[in-house]
Amino acid sequence: MHVLRAAVNCGLVETDAGLVAIDTGLDRGAGNKILRHAQELGLPLAAIVNTHAHADHHGGNAQLVRRTGVPVHAPAVEAAVIREPGFEPVYLFCGAEPVAALRNRFLQAEPSPVDHVFRAGERITIGGREMEAVDLGGHSLAQVGIRVGEVLFAADAFFGQEPLAKHGIPFLVDAGRMRDSLLRLASDGAEWMVPGHGDALREPEPTLRANLAVLDRATAWIGERLRHGPAATEDLLAEITPVFGLRMTDPGSFVLNRTALLGFLSTLEREGAVAVALEAGRWLWTEAA
Ligand SMILES: [Zn+2]
Repeated sequence: MHVLRAAVNCGLVETDAGLVAIDTGLDRGAGNKILRHAQELGLPLAAIVNTHAHADHHGGNAQLVRRTGVPVHAPAVEAAVIREPGFEPVYLFCGAEPVAALRNRFLQAEPSPVDHVFRAGERITIGGREMEAVDLGGHSLAQVGIRVGEVLFAADAFFGQEPLAKHGIPFLVDAGRMRDSLLRLASDGAEWMVPGHGDALREPEPTLRANLAVLDRATAWIGERLRHGPAATEDLLAEITPVFGLRMTDPGSFVLNRTALLGFLSTLEREGAVAVALEAGRWLWTEAA
């Protein structure tokens, strides 16, 4: 098993049929890099297995499929966006036609076919090698990790310490499910855990704990803030930005951070801690009565 260490890690798993790529990086260049590596190993590419439908994880698919025709395996739900990546900027823009600034390669990959759709808990066998799809939802709606033997490719269920510090709050769509996924990882016995961003870890516990701590701090901050009165989403966003050092440098980073904040708020609403109030044409978040 190999990890192509880069801004986005890709796994390369040797099987009797050739190499299976676990995620493919951001773009055509990342796809080409995977093929160069396969050449060095003297093995053909046999298949692609995607963990989730963020452009930086499936953006190399199209080039690999063009050059090798390998089949693509992807989790249900995520598969829809891998096939139609235009939906990524659309959902980040609340379902409306996005402004041009959101149609960029970091938020919208080249479309890729998906030949095999699987669900968390299922096993995939390629070239005699069995892989297990582990439910790691929360960072995206239906993200999975891929377990191969003693290695768990955990995608973006947790971030390495350095990328975690850089983002302030990791991207998520459901803070509660992301927390559950982190707890599941903390009690998982895998010998190696490979995050999508950061080093492969033999001792993942401190890093998992750092990820959990950020979620808990942000949850506590939102609860405390709403105790002092209701607030609109974008007011909360403006207030939390300096507290967690969020990077808000362009429309893309703004909508990503807004989605993450909403992932905390919808979790708190589901748990009965926060409520929605509509007042004078504004959507306000309030402390639950
Ligand atoms: Zn991701």
